[in-house]
Amino acid sequence: MSNFEQVKALEAAHVLQTYKRAPVVFVRGEGSRLYDSDGRSYLDFISGIGVVVLGHGNPGLAAVIAKQAQTLIQTSNLYYHPLQGQLAARLAALSGLQRTFFCNSGTEAVEACLKFARRYWFSRGEKRRTQFVALEHGFSGRTFGALSVTANPAYREPFGPLVPGVTFASPANPAALDMAVTNETAAIIVEPIQGEGGVRPLTADFAAAIERACERTGCLLIADEVQCGLGRTGEAFYSPVLGLTPDLISIGKALGSGVPIGAALIAEPVAAQIFPGDHGSTYGGNLLSTRAALYVLEQLTGTSAAVPYQAPGGLIGHVREMSVVFAKALDDLAARHTVVKTARGVGMMRALELTIDATPVIEGALKAGLLVNRTAERVIRMLPPLTVTEREIHEAVELLDGVLVGIKTEVTT
Ligand SMILES: *Cc1c(COP(=O)(O)O)cnc(C)c1O
Repeated sequence: MSNFEQVKALEAAHVLQTYKRAPVVFVRGEGSRLYDSDGRSYLDFISGIGVVVLGHGNPGLAAVIAKQAQTLIQTSNLYYHPLQGQLAARLAALSGLQRTFFCNSGTEAVEACLKFARRYWFSRGEKRRTQFVALEHGFSGRTFGALSVTANPAYREPFGPLVPGVTFASPANPAALDMAVTNETAAIIVEPIQGEGGVRPLTADFAAAIERACERTGCLLIADEVQCGLGRTGEAFYSPVLGLTPDLISIGKALGSGVPIGAALIAEPVAAQIFPGDHGSTYGGNLLSTRAALYVLEQLTGTSAAVPYQAPGGLIGHVREMSVVFAKALDDLAARHTVVKTARGVGMMRALELTIDATPVIEGALKAGLLVNRTAERVIRMLPPLTVTEREIHEAVELLDGVLVGIKTEVTT
């Protein structure tokens, strides 16, 4: 049996079968490349689903993790340690939201935001103000709370009843959002760029409608920036680009560049209504994950100090430069292939929408040594490490070009 067959057989026997995995076993990575169990190399334009922002096997991150692991990993939230405050101060400088609650994933960050929104209104004596408005095509995670504000019926249906009081509005219809938000809405939750929904930035009109609805009813705004936040778009956060002023922001994915950590960022008026004992996590903000995140933020912004993000330095500056290259290469590719309906996205969060199911392209790309993934059936999503080079971008687009040429021949023959 090959290494792949062995790994597959053992998983088939003992790992819960919730994932449809691609037929490859990865054992090592370096920068934008992954290596499989046969030593074959792949250009990784998915980076653990937008997680490994510093690239695989990053020596700086490896060194700080190793040193922290030798010093102290976990103490729980029963005691102080020096790193949570430092990381929270840096996140406050980046986001303008004064306080952070630390957890272990994007889903948990969303879960915390939903709880804090309800707690805010409960503390203020408006106990009936419990409803949420979320968006069609939105994705916020798979636990009951996060799933309840996630639109996909296939994810929801087998697990009902979910958290009551959630209404879904279409991001294509600003007027309908206005109707959906009432004086019983605790919060609106949106992804500034819908990731799983097909890499769709909210429109300026829709963002304006969100702001108007919040102003009219006083409801809170939760921005789920788990995928688009922390440098992926060439900005620290994408909400301000759209003119959104969230009261709560959920982050995860990029924050630890692979070390599990998530966080809810909270504006002071909301934070003032949350009290000791209201929420908690055993691991949340432990020394290993906060140490990793401090290093990631330092690399993203190019500074080790907690300062408001202005000048594009560090990796975020690099993303802005590479964004121009990536956008042009994908636009040119789209112009050459009739199966590509459109190229869209921002920074290092990009997609090609096809006129056909994306599955054969994803499979062809894997065979050609390129990792990309499919969302929303016809969409090829690309989330390379933020360290990606101009050469690697051209290499990836050339590989896709070759795959699309092959697809065209298959379709016409
Ligand atoms: C991935 C994602 C989540 C869930 O994050 P996990 O790390 O899987 O818990 C939530 N919201 C958005 C927008 C995401 O992309």
